[in-house]
Amino acid sequence: MKENPDLYYCNNCKKIFHSLKDLYFIEDGSPRGFCSESCIETFFDHLVKHFENIDQQLRLKLNCVEESCLDIVGEPRYMEGLIEEPDEVWVRENDLKEEIFCYIKKFNDFGGDEFYMVLTCLVFDRKPSFIISATATQNIELVNSFKLGEQQDLDAPDKASNLSIDDETLESIEGKKSRYLASMLQDRNESDIPFEDFMSYDEFLYKTLEKPDEVYCQTDDEGDTIYTYIRVHEREGTSFYYIVLCISIENDWKQKKENLLPILTFPSKDPKLYNTFKKGSLITGSQLKN
Ligand SMILES: [Zn+2]
Repeated sequence: MKENPDLYYCNNCKKIFHSLKDLYFIEDGSPRGFCSESCIETFFDHLVKHFENIDQQLRLKLNCVEESCLDIVGEPRYMEGLIEEPDEVWVRENDLKEEIFCYIKKFNDFGGDEFYMVLTCLVFDRKPSFIISATATQNIELVNSFKLGEQQDLDAPDKASNLSIDDETLESIEGKKSRYLASMLQDRNESDIPFEDFMSYDEFLYKTLEKPDEVYCQTDDEGDTIYTYIRVHEREGTSFYYIVLCISIENDWKQKKENLLPILTFPSKDPKLYNTFKKGSLITGSQLKN
């Protein structure tokens, strides 16, 4: 028997694997995989220490080594609030495209005093996946010193539902969603993934938007610009397409910025159905970045 040609290894302990399923990935767009949580911790230990040092040095400089709010660092309800609904997210990217994120949120403690929680982390699937450091402070200068790199636009595209869309547009989008869904269901093969199971594939939505294999752009019958994101994924040894249709919405309040709102998302194992969605002009990866 021939050896499985696919070869992967844990970036920490170097153990060899033949399937991607055996590895954990904690950074979007990074091929670094790990066999276990302890290997992840060991691998990033130097970063944890580096950020601990920086925090200490800054606190010494700003005269805030001791703060009562430091006691709540790690308390689940604050951590959850910070992770789920940050006020600001900053990302710094080096020339190797390695990214380090900083999540910031302002809280009021029991006495009504304001303080900030600051999280330095790695991100996978738009959520913190590995916490490098977490701190709390009332010192705004300390908070500001963590704001490195670029501030992320939290409105796009996953928070598209928070866009300021007027009722009329919203209604017409709802109508469009139903029409697209009806037409897709009609074209489906009976042996394809059942409609009831679609929800269990939700996790592939962002993976598809983040790193699509193909993106098509077209103007539909109603004059709207539709982007079709397609990516092949694998789950439990079976590969399938995940297809996301997004409508482009222009926002006046952000100059000329295009926002994409998903209007149809579904998995399929049917190459014929996949082919019917390859409509419009193919946009390459480099164009996508813009
Ligand atoms: Zn390992």
